[in-house]
Amino acid sequence: MNVLLIGSGGREHALAWKLAQSPLLGTLFAAPGNPGIAASATIVALDVADHRAVAAFCHEEAVELVVVGPEAPLVAGIADDLTAAGIAVFGPTAAAARLEGSKGFTKDLCSRHDIPTARYKRFSDVAAAKAYLDETGFPMVIKADGLAAGKGVTIAANRSEALAAIEDCFGGAFGGPGAEVVIEEFLEGEEASLFCICDGTRAVVFGTAQDHKRAFDKDRGPNTGGMGAYSPALALTDRLLDRAMAEIVEPTLRGMAEIGAPFRGVLYAGLMLTETGPKLIEYNVRFGDPEAQVLMMRLESDPLPVFLAAAKGDLSGVTPSWSRDRALTVVMAAEGYPGSYRKGTEILSLPADDARTRIFHAGTTREGDRLLASGGRVLNVTARGASVREAAARAYAAVEAVGWDDGFFRTDIGHRAIMVEGA
Ligand code: AMP
Repeated sequence: MNVLLIGSGGREHALAWKLAQSPLLGTLFAAPGNPGIAASATIVALDVADHRAVAAFCHEEAVELVVVGPEAPLVAGIADDLTAAGIAVFGPTAAAARLEGSKGFTKDLCSRHDIPTARYKRFSDVAAAKAYLDETGFPMVIKADGLAAGKGVTIAANRSEALAAIEDCFGGAFGGPGAEVVIEEFLEGEEASLFCICDGTRAVVFGTAQDHKRAFDKDRGPNTGGMGAYSPALALTDRLLDRAMAEIVEPTLRGMAEIGAPFRGVLYAGLMLTETGPKLIEYNVRFGDPEAQVLMMRLESDPLPVFLAAAKGDLSGVTPSWSRDRALTVVMAAEGYPGSYRKGTEILSLPADDARTRIFHAGTTREGDRLLASGGRVLNVTARGASVREAAARAYAAVEAVGWDDGFFRTDIGHRAIMVEGA
């Protein structure tokens, strides 16, 4: 079977590496891809925003399944357009992608179905949002409604921070003036990410992970797309996982089917494990980046039949199998990220991959024989081991062997899990 993978980050490199091992695979195409993905897939120059061109390519090359990595094409309706053209897509329709594309939509769904989440209010008027601050305590959380590449959330410690965040949101800092804002209660607890593959009615657990959003050690510095992750999330015990499925994921699938927008694809629930149980922080409608890297490192079975079954709407009998190993990834980012950073610095050498250590490319580009850093997050150094401590030691040894002096990385990925594991 020929497959087209859409995306160009470390997440897509991990997916490409794993899909390329499938005995069911004919040719794996990727657009736009990156130099790492090029080792596992044929890179094609396609404008992925031009859905008609993507459909024409799939027909020409007999592509039977399109796997969409990032959220933006899904929110833009690529799954709707390709499905209409007779091509199976692993990823939700635009209507179902609202679970990520609109925080207000998701909060309203939660409230209709009693799904545990932070108490909230939606505002489309700046004065009303500001007036609401008189009724709440601090800290509190202010969120721009639409997609904001992980930057639309402010945890406001006091009134002046909250006012500034509301003005930023309505001023268009996170996607267009006149936008909507969600103001919600601050939840305390440990965060965990739960991944489910869904076929519209059923959800199959597809791993758990914990990520590290802040730029610097000890969770300091600005929020980023993610500076590292490990899997599984040790804090998400079997009991809490069962509760999250029964109280959060399953009612969500029922709710989406009820409004005529059944969810197919990866449902990624960002959870807060509070004293009273798991609560939903947010949904994403695709794999996390860098969480996909650690999931793919631990996945033992073939992902292709799982993605295809989800795309075709029938996951019955699908049971993915996982290594008992832990996996951990360290993101190497360009100096300055997530602010402005230099592009075009040279990566002189990379250590060779082996069975337990693997470097996924994120923002890299090839210029002749030279490998250059071309994005904020550049390399994802990923390893597995019997414990998080062992996986971390292996990953950091590989980081030291990378010949690139213009980047930085966190030195404490996995620290909480390593503390729990003990010596
Ligand atoms: P989101 O983009 O909604 O995942 O938010 C980004 C980050 O902000 C989350 O990963 C949490 O660390 C934090 N966050 C979001 N909402 C809340 C909340 N209600 N309480 C505490 N932290 C939150």
